[in-house]
Parts: sequence; structure tokens; C-alpha cells
Amino acid sequence: MRVTVLRLGHRPERDKRITTHVGLVSRAFGAEEMLLTGRDPSIEESLADVVERWGGDFRLKTDVSWKGEVIRWKEAGGKVVHLTMYGSRMQNVVDEIRMHDNILVVVGAEKVPAEMYDLADWNVAVGSQPHSEVAALAVFLDHLMEGQELTKDFDGGLRIIPSPRGKQVVGHRKQDFPDTKD
Ligand code: SAM
Repeated sequence: MRVTVLRLGHRPERDKRITTHVGLVSRAFGAEEMLLTGRDPSIEESLADVVERWGGDFRLKTDVSWKGEVIRWKEAGGKVVHLTMYGSRMQNVVDEIRMHDNILVVVGAEKVPAEMYDLADWNVAVGSQPHSEVAALAVFLDHLMEGQELTKDFDGGLRIIPSPRGKQVVGHRKQDFPDTKD
């Protein structure tokens, strides 16, 4: 399954940290790419740095037209999932969504254009209470991938050896973690 995340409505003056976290969650939980409306060099740098140190080939495409990307995605046969607290219960639709190969997951910031609700193949609620795009994305990706994303191998970077205590990291950029144990 190929998953791309579209982050709508990023406001550089307010959303830097949360949009960076949307990107980090996308990468860590199995998406291949994040599309961002607008540009923000600090987010580009942060995510590029994580990919360089921790591996994988997660990509960021900035300054996209959200509507153009959604329409292109659908024309290419992909499906579009818009995460919103007003949507269908995730538990009722996630099995159906998982049957498709190419999924674009859309998360908003403040106000999402009404058109997005119509263009989406599914409007999906992760619980019907307002919370956060970071939380909604993490929970949704986890359900979509049935937990498999948690053991994904990220080629070529630092790798953590899970330990009950302390920090164990192996890989070619160990100097980034001088306090880690061998
Ligand atoms: N009124 C918004 C909504 O439609 O969900 C809440 C805005 S929230 C600050 C920003 C984004 O978080 C939303 O655009 C949505 O993608 C995501 N979000 C927040 N709560 C959610 C929930 N319960 N289920 C799914 N997505 C949620």
C-alpha cells in the first residue's frame, strides 16, 4: 500500500512545529511522502535532516495546490481520505479503505475548504471530538496498517536497538549520539 499525506492550510507563522510533527508521524508511520500547501524552509530542513540521519526515502513536496493534487490523485486511480472529526467512524470504514493500493490522507490546520469534504472518498473521524491532526494521523495510519508500520525498516540510517533501559543506537552517524551506549 502506498500512502501520501497532504497537509492543508499550513501557516508558517503558527504551524511550524505541528506541521513538522505531521511530517515526522507520516514518515515514522509508513507514509512515503508529505505534500504541503505553501513553503516553509525550516520544515524542509528539519525533515531532510531526519531522513539523512535516520534513513528511508521519505519525500516532502512543497507549494502544492491541494485541489490539483487531490484531483490528480483520483484521476490516477488513487483514493482520498480526509481526516475530520465530522466524518464517518474510522472503525467502520478502515477495512474498506485498506483494500486500496494508493491512499492520500488529508489533514487540515484550522479551517478546511468545504470542497474537500466533497472531493474525499471518505471523510473519517478518529473519535468524534476535536483534537489534533498529529494524533488523528498517527491513530489512523496505525489502524490502516494494522500496527505493521511500527516495525518498518528504514534503510541506511541510524537504527535503535530497543532496550528496556538506556539508549542503544547503531549506524553510520553514531557521532550524533555521543551519549549512547555500545
Ligand atoms: N474542525 C476541525 C475538524 O474538522 O476536524 C478541527 C481542526 S483541528 C485543529 C486540525 C485538523 O486535525 C483537522 O483538519 C483534522 O484533519 C484533524 N482532526 C482533529 N480532530 C480530529 C478527529 N476527531 N478526527 C479526525 N481528524 C481530526
